[in-house]
Amino acid sequence: MEGNWKKLVEFDREHIWHPYTSMTDPLPVYPVKSANGCEITLTSGEVLIDGMSSWWSAIHGYNHPVMIEAIERQARTLPHIMFGGLTHEPAVDLARLLVDISPKGLDKVFYSDSGSVAVEVAMKMAIQYQYCLGKRHKNRFLTVRGGYHGDTFHAMSVCDPFNGMHSLSGDVLPAYYFADKPSVKYGEKWDQTAMDSMRKLFEKHHETICAVIIEPVVQGAGGMNFYHPSFLSETRTLCDKYDVLFIADEIATGLGRTGKMFGCEHAEIAPDIMCLGKTLTGGYMSFAATLATGQVAEGVSRGQPGVFMHGPTYMGNPLGCRVSWTSVQLLLESNWQENISRIELQMKRELACCKDIDWVRDVRSLGGIGVVELECPVDQGRIQRKFIERGVWIRPFGRLVYLMPPYIISGEQLGLLTRALFEEIKDRKNMQ
Ligand SMILES: *Cc1c(COP(=O)(O)O)cnc(C)c1O
Repeated sequence: MEGNWKKLVEFDREHIWHPYTSMTDPLPVYPVKSANGCEITLTSGEVLIDGMSSWWSAIHGYNHPVMIEAIERQARTLPHIMFGGLTHEPAVDLARLLVDISPKGLDKVFYSDSGSVAVEVAMKMAIQYQYCLGKRHKNRFLTVRGGYHGDTFHAMSVCDPFNGMHSLSGDVLPAYYFADKPSVKYGEKWDQTAMDSMRKLFEKHHETICAVIIEPVVQGAGGMNFYHPSFLSETRTLCDKYDVLFIADEIATGLGRTGKMFGCEHAEIAPDIMCLGKTLTGGYMSFAATLATGQVAEGVSRGQPGVFMHGPTYMGNPLGCRVSWTSVQLLLESNWQENISRIELQMKRELACCKDIDWVRDVRSLGGIGVVELECPVDQGRIQRKFIERGVWIRPFGRLVYLMPPYIISGEQLGLLTRALFEEIKDRKNMQ
């Protein structure tokens, strides 16, 4: 058994790329045997409490019987069929459900296979919308610094230029407009000057801007910034004034994570286009959706070419649709709001002690997200190993050590996560 997994890891190291990792000098990876509820079992036998929800997606925990049953049943009936010229019940059921729970007006659904593609689709829709209305010069995007929208090329172009390493791509990426990062924190007093940079860009460039794209309330992978919802409502007003579409990237915030069903609800606004991914399948497979208003759909379908120019091979995959439908249904039937506020309260209480550590810059929680921001980056390889020794799965990035557990995590399990987090960031040797 032991020899077996050592060989597995050796082959992996030699041949398989991992996310944002060197192929020639990678940090260690740990082989997983199975996962159940909020526990991940490594092949080597250790059981880890999951603080990451597999990059924020596994909201119901792993191996949920209802999810597994849905997958098995759909796999036996119709795992896949092309979507050109055909449709099926899982696609219709999911669209009906998404239209029903989404902010007002979003009632046209485009299915794709991952978050980045959902963002590409949203951006293409915005460009094509303006084009079909005869506004061909409106083809630039406006966004804020500190954002993250995915790894494909056009999604990259609206990620934070510094974090997203735009310099690496030279002049391949189009240069878009970046307003200052939303500076008023969630829960602080609103200050209208926070809009200055955004408003100036609107005033100066609105004739060439087709859409604003933004992560509502929580900027996730770009730095875990929790910002004031008024930033969204003010941006919505500017969009309306200057005939610019509003794209909400809810891939991380959508479906409950921030304490509301969608991040936009904190500001009581509705976007023109909304992207869903990550949480959509509850972490059981890759699937995504881009929702648009009737107005956007009508614009896109008008004039030439008269159709929306996108249609991936696995579009509307029945398995993806059924899994997503089951996951959202499960969410709606659960007491997720109670769970999220319980998690938020416990994280606020139990992470507060981190503030006393010299190299901690900030500690913050919102909904099911708890963040400890450090003055310096962690030693990733070392702290990873230490967390595993403590029986938890926490994967920091850079200066951020954070928790985004499944919504179903118990108080006791969460307590083990917050304790381990505190103990390891207290250890100076884990810092670079
Ligand atoms: C993860 C993420 C994406 C990209 O989704 P993938 O499925 O990784 O392509 C886009 N936007 C946001 C806000 C995300 O958190």
